[in-house]
Amino acid sequence: MTFFGSIADDFTGATDLAALLSRSGVAVSLRIGVPQSPPEATAGLEIIALKIRTAPVDEAVAQAREALAWLRAAGAQRFFWKYCSTFDSTPQGNIGPVAEALMADLGTAQTIYCPAFPENGRSVFMGHLFVGEALLSDSPMKDHPLTPMRDANLLRLLQPQVRGKVGLAPRSVVAQGAKALAARLAGLDAAHVVVDAVNGQDLAVIAEACQDMALMTGGSAVAMALPRLWQARGLVGQARTAVAKAAEGPALVLSGSCSAMTNLQVADYLGRGHPGYRLDPLALMDGPGAALDWLAAQSGAPLIYATAEPEAVKSAQSALGTARAGALVEEALAAVATFARDRGTRRFVVAGGETSGAVASALGIDRLDIGPEIAPGVPWCFATSGGHPIAITLKSGNFGGPAFFTQSLELLDR
Ligand code: ADP
Repeated sequence: MTFFGSIADDFTGATDLAALLSRSGVAVSLRIGVPQSPPEATAGLEIIALKIRTAPVDEAVAQAREALAWLRAAGAQRFFWKYCSTFDSTPQGNIGPVAEALMADLGTAQTIYCPAFPENGRSVFMGHLFVGEALLSDSPMKDHPLTPMRDANLLRLLQPQVRGKVGLAPRSVVAQGAKALAARLAGLDAAHVVVDAVNGQDLAVIAEACQDMALMTGGSAVAMALPRLWQARGLVGQARTAVAKAAEGPALVLSGSCSAMTNLQVADYLGRGHPGYRLDPLALMDGPGAALDWLAAQSGAPLIYATAEPEAVKSAQSALGTARAGALVEEALAAVATFARDRGTRRFVVAGGETSGAVASALGIDRLDIGPEIAPGVPWCFATSGGHPIAITLKSGNFGGPAFFTQSLELLDR
């Protein structure tokens, strides 16, 4: 039976939340999109990953409400609206409207907003969001192509997005503990309360004070302490099952991320003597056949990658156009994944956010059960693909350390 239902505004944000919730040992299941069938065999903690961060407001609200209805049908009694720890939203903004719609459906008068993720350098003080030591508006997020963040004041960002009043619960109150925070929230004449947090202790206080709110909103970190609080009260219990054994079989590493960290990870993996095949976007105009032929002749845990240094990426992009180069790579990696699965591969390590989406959808995955965490925010997941149990990890660009690929595979063998 589900107790906690979360709605995430993008896919890697959902896996990040899944990994943090899963640290409690409670079963976590992640759905890609709102399931088409009614809830069945659900986990104690259910997450629905949507792709609505930059969608038109009406569409984002409609999808979030549909997800909420499914989670309520699954039995959930507490809800979480998960967005990015850098509060990514367009000027029209989906964070506030979605929160307000969920509040209306749940019949609740107040919610909190806490994007803080101190472990990753995101903190909130006096309602201002910091990335490391810089205000959000002075961080690289100010130049984000889709959601440039030019203001760090969360109250000012939120107020135009909502009809209700916006208020602040400052650090000075949070530092006094859960009772003081609960009293402040009860005394504030505000439907939408931004709550300060600069460290893990603050997040624990917020979770304790807000554990019985129908709806909380924030980054993944503020939700992390919730499962254990509920476990202590007997509200969630179902433990994560060890399903790793079911996904016995050969492994394959697929990398379509060109981030600095992924470049290191590819180099590290090849340096350990694993077979590798580099995809050249220009050559992919003839299709992925050559890569499939190569893969068919391999044993061990091969790597197929388009990962390249910025210069090579630029030259492919100027020859093909950015979108076409990306699409050729994503289509090829997706084709490789299904080919490998049909030939018996059961363990997949995938690097790249967009790449992960392409591979997961090619493999026909709509539900992931969350397993052990490999690196902060990156868990092994278990799923069914083409009727076979598989293990898959989906890593966005900069996550994990240089030896991530090796560590992933070693963790499954343990
Ligand atoms: P990240 O999580 O690092 O952002 P993504 O998978 O989200 O990784 O994005 C990387 C994008 O770059 C994908 O669309 C991928 O297809 C594309 N890409 C990968 N390799 C190359 C390359 N060599 N040249 C051009 N584009 C590439």
